[in-house]
Parts: sequence; C-alpha cells; structure tokens
Amino acid sequence: MNFELTEEQQSVKKMVRRFVDKEIIPNIQEWDRNGHFEPAILKKLAELQLMGVCIPEEYGGVGMDYNTLAIVCEELERGDTAYRTAVSVHTGLNSMTILQWGTEEQKQKYLVPQALGHKIAAFGLTEPNAGSDVAAMNTTATRDGDYYVLNGSKTWISLCDVADNFLIFAKTDHDLGHKGITAFIVERSFDGVQTKAIKGKLGIRAGNTGEVFLMDVKVPVANRLGEEGEGFKIAMSALDNGRFTVAAGAVGLISASLEASLKYCHERKTFGKEIGKHQLVQQMIANMSANLEISRLLVFKAGWLKNQGKRNTKETSLAKWISCNAAFDAANDAVQIHGAYGYSDEYPVERFLRNSKAPVIYEGTREIHTIMQGEYALGYREDKLLRKQLPAWPFEQASITN
Ligand SMILES: Cc1cc2nc3c(=O)[nH]c(=O)nc-3n(C[C@H](O)[C@H](O)[C@H](O)COP(=O)(O)OP(=O)(O)OC[C@H]3O[C@@H](n4cnc5c(N)ncnc54)[C@H](O)[C@@H]3O)c2cc1C
Repeated sequence: MNFELTEEQQSVKKMVRRFVDKEIIPNIQEWDRNGHFEPAILKKLAELQLMGVCIPEEYGGVGMDYNTLAIVCEELERGDTAYRTAVSVHTGLNSMTILQWGTEEQKQKYLVPQALGHKIAAFGLTEPNAGSDVAAMNTTATRDGDYYVLNGSKTWISLCDVADNFLIFAKTDHDLGHKGITAFIVERSFDGVQTKAIKGKLGIRAGNTGEVFLMDVKVPVANRLGEEGEGFKIAMSALDNGRFTVAAGAVGLISASLEASLKYCHERKTFGKEIGKHQLVQQMIANMSANLEISRLLVFKAGWLKNQGKRNTKETSLAKWISCNAAFDAANDAVQIHGAYGYSDEYPVERFLRNSKAPVIYEGTREIHTIMQGEYALGYREDKLLRKQLPAWPFEQASITN
C-alpha cells in the first residue's frame, strides 16, 4: 500500500491548482452571478490535455491512471463545481463509457476527438418522469433499416447547450422495463436535436444544465453503443465512473470550505480572541478536516480498484455518498463560521453551500446510495462481471481494443 501521490500525479495536481487559481477563481463570482458558462475554460483544459487524462494515448488521451482523473476533479472543484461537473460528464460519464463499451470505429470517431477536447460530450439519462427510476423513461428508439428513430426528451442534462455529442438512453422495447433500454451516440448536428438551458438553479449557476429534445432523430445503427437492451447496464457502469469524479470533486469542495474557514478563523475576533480559539468553532474545523481525509481515502480506494480492473460499484457508491454529504456539511459549516458575512457573496462560502446540494442529488441521490450500501451489507446486492470491462491501468493493448 502506498498513500503517496506519484511525481506525475503531484505535477498534475499543481498544474490544475495553478490553472484554477489563475483562470477560474478570479472570475467565478461574476460568472456565477450572471449564470454564465465560459466555454473558453474547456478549451484551455483541452490545451492542458485534461479532457482525456485517463484515456489511453491510442485514443487521444494522455494515458494516466484513474486516480489522476480524481486529482483533476478535486482541484477543479476547489475553484467551482461547474467545471468539475463538465469533466465529470465529458470524461467520466461519456468518454470512459465509450472506452469501455464502444467498437473500434466508435472509439476512433467519437472517443479520439473527445479525449483531445476537440469535441465536447454529455450524458442523457434523466427524463421529466424518470430520475432515480431509470426504467420509467419514455424516450423511444424504433429501428428503421440502418437507422433508429429517436423520440422523447431528456432533462437536467449538464452541458446540454455546449456538447457536440450525447450519450442518449432510449427504450427499444417498452415492455421489457430496464432490459428494454439501449444506448446511442447522438450528435448535436443530427436533424431533430434541440436543447434549452434551465434557468433559476439553486447552485452550479456557472454551469450549463438543461433539456434535450429528440424529434424523429435518425441515428445510424453504427451509433448504438453495446447491444439492444444493454443500455441499463451501460448507464450503471457509466455512473461508476461519473460518481467517482463527483466524489473526487466533493473532496475539493471540502478542501475549499476548510481553506476559507481556516483563513477566516484567524482573521475574525470575538470576545477578545480569534474565533478559531473557540472550541465549538474548532469542532466544525475538526469535522471538515476529518471528512476531507476520509473522503479522499474513499475516492482513492475506488480509483485503485479501477486501476486494478476490478468492479468498484460498491466502493464508488460509498465514496460518492460519504464525500457528497460531507461536502454539503463542510460548506454549511463554512457559512456558519463566517457568520453574517458567509451569507453574502462577498465570501465564496455561500456559493460552496449552494453548489454542494446538486451532487447530493445527481448521480444517485443520497437516499439511493444509502439503500445501495444497506443492500450490499445485507447481502441483497452483489456486483457481477460485465460483458465489457473498463481497461485496467497501466493500459495494455489487448484490454483497450476490441
Ligand atoms: C445540476 C444537475 C445536473 C444534472 N446533470 C445530469 C446529467 O448530465 N445527465 C443526466 O442524465 N441527469 C442529470 N441530472 C439529473 C439527476 O441525475 C437526477 O436529478 C437524479 O437522478 C434524481 O432524479 P430526480 O431528480 O428525478 O429525483 P427523483 O428520482 O424523483 O427523487 C425524488 C426524491 O425521492 C427520493 N427517492 C426516489 N426513489 C427512492 C427510493 N426508492 N427510496 C427512497 N427515496 C427515494 C430521492 O432520493 C429524492 O429525494 C442532473 C441534476 C442536477 C440537479
């Protein structure tokens, strides 16, 4: 067991931190206030080769390990949740899913430009009437010769207005429930695709989230990811990677909440001493510190399992559940420590609190992860080997090509 970051990981961490300090933190308050998503940030992340950090070099990435992706996400969310969310959907939910399930042609056509950051990718699972209950989805895909015709709508889709490619889940057989779901790679340029941003969000206001409408969209059969009826398994395996990035981001939010709180504890005085000297304030700091450590260890354990090529649904769910709850608590306590000043956007902590709520809802709500962990402990749930695996790291030719 080795708890130290490698030299490469340390240098990526430093690079992302410098990037966030220079490009995101000075602008984020204004972007958040104006609900502005800045696409130039994704371009710059691509220049730094961070849009495909854990994608093999053969497919346009830099071929680093899965925990390096966690490090990128942690550091990005120290700046703001919006850009970490972008990497979560682009790399975690979309590109890594094509890496795991895609044909060689799909990898060449879609994964390579995505890993290079030349094309941006999103993930369309949720619908107006189907969130936690994925099988309740109503979007349909009807086979017509060499095409499928997709009809329906997706909602709460991150990067909806920005993405070039979407991974869309639709029912090819309505009577089969979750076994009737199939996954498709859909390009924005296909006729009948429209998107619309959701306004008035509680947090992640600097992020782009919204609806995707599919109206008689003709999708070539070659764009079906996996087999017909395999979509539910593909979606769940995508979430193993998305949740991992969300958990890593939550570590960054705890870190940012702690950083802001420590600074304020030394600046602010009450009753003749720094507020950090009051034991009840120390308790909040101690909780943040402990949760930072616990959450980071859970994330790295899940990443280690990914590197080994082992299934990690249970461990990833645990990391996501614990770290997102802890991030919400840390942001809440950070506002408390800042007193009334924490209640205004003069300090970043009110944004942390607003941002910390969505990750407790998306990629499996707090309740869904609680149930999953209960079921694992009771022996009601177990993970079986999937037809296609995410390649182990270091990447070997045989495991990354089909
Ligand atoms: C900012 C943001 C970005 C998002 N980005 C994406 C994206 O890129 N792609 C995408 O596909 N989706 C995305 N989502 C959607 C997200 O994944 C869903 O909101 C989430 O899965 C929950 O679904 P729901 O909102 O329909 O809630 P519901 O499933 O309707 O749940 C409502 C409440 O009931 C509880 N509940 C539901 N079922 C149970 C149960 N069995 N037992 C106990 N409690 C239960 C839930 O925990 C929750 O508290 C995003 C959401 C947000 C907020």
